[in-house]
Amino acid sequence: MEAAVANKNHTVDIIDKKLRPIKANEALVKMEYCGVCHTDLHVKNGDFGEVPGRVLGHEGVGIVSEIGSAVTSLKVGDRVSVAWFFQGCGHCDYCVNGQETFCRQAQNAGYTVDGGMAEECIVTADYAVKVPEDLDPIAASSITCAGVTTYKAIKVSDIKPGQWLVIFGMGGLGNLALQYAKNVFNAKVIAVDINDDKLAIAKELGADVIINGKQEDVVARVKEVTGDGAHATVITAVSKVASNQAVDAVRATGKVVAVGLPVETMDLSIPRLVLDGIEVIGSLVGTRADLAEAFEFAAEGAVTPIVQTRPLADINDIMTEMAEGKISGRMVIDFTK
Ligand SMILES: [Zn+2]
Ligand SMILES: [Zn+2]
Repeated sequence: MEAAVANKNHTVDIIDKKLRPIKANEALVKMEYCGVCHTDLHVKNGDFGEVPGRVLGHEGVGIVSEIGSAVTSLKVGDRVSVAWFFQGCGHCDYCVNGQETFCRQAQNAGYTVDGGMAEECIVTADYAVKVPEDLDPIAASSITCAGVTTYKAIKVSDIKPGQWLVIFGMGGLGNLALQYAKNVFNAKVIAVDINDDKLAIAKELGADVIINGKQEDVVARVKEVTGDGAHATVITAVSKVASNQAVDAVRATGKVVAVGLPVETMDLSIPRLVLDGIEVIGSLVGTRADLAEAFEFAAEGAVTPIVQTRPLADINDIMTEMAEGKISGRMVIDFTK
């Protein structure tokens, strides 16, 4: 079967790979679609450590074609996802307390184990979240990473209906964050980006206020709109500047939720933290339960990912376009043709 694998030159090879037989607790999935995420770019470039030969991809959706002898949670024909959180140990504090993505033994698809950017993928059956039947599988691929990541981040922000949420970055993550915030959490949303095209899409998707961070003073404008500052912010932008603005944009007791991964440190005034009771929290993808919820809201029509399908042969072009910031929405590899 064809698979997209990382190589030592930090490009992607398309190879013919033979899979091992599945174990008793595993399932074989015939992949339909796999989105290309910024994290794939990091893995390919060796930013988290070199993994030559690893099959990329953690926004995968496909149909179960075979199950191991001990599998009871899936059956042949089910549509399932291949997500970044591939599996946890199942018995540590994190795993049993609803924080499984932080399991110290967690495996990550397309990084520590082979992922979904291939014609077939082996999954641990109990960790493969089912895709609802009424959800388009191309859309589902985006929910598998970008969707659940932003849905979870807004949950972590603890935003309440009618409260002000500022979302920094309106790219592949931000536009989904906006849709979940508006259509599921009923928040009032201020969308911040430095690209007018992305802000125009945000406006169409229902942002109450848009701010171009290159043209306006973001913090002053947020205070002007909200009075005292926002109740919370979610930072999807890969930017230190945005992270600093996020801290300044929240009111006392506000929450700052970090999702994007700039390889820098942010400035954090300790008096601001203490005197105003600010919380700064990291949010990492989502648990199986979070993903099932994120799928359900998308199936109900609350969230529509912006997606475009491409053939596997385009993978290196897609990586280049992504590195150059030329992609809006999600590029999804189509394995159905
Ligand atoms: Zn991802
Ligand atoms: Zn664990």
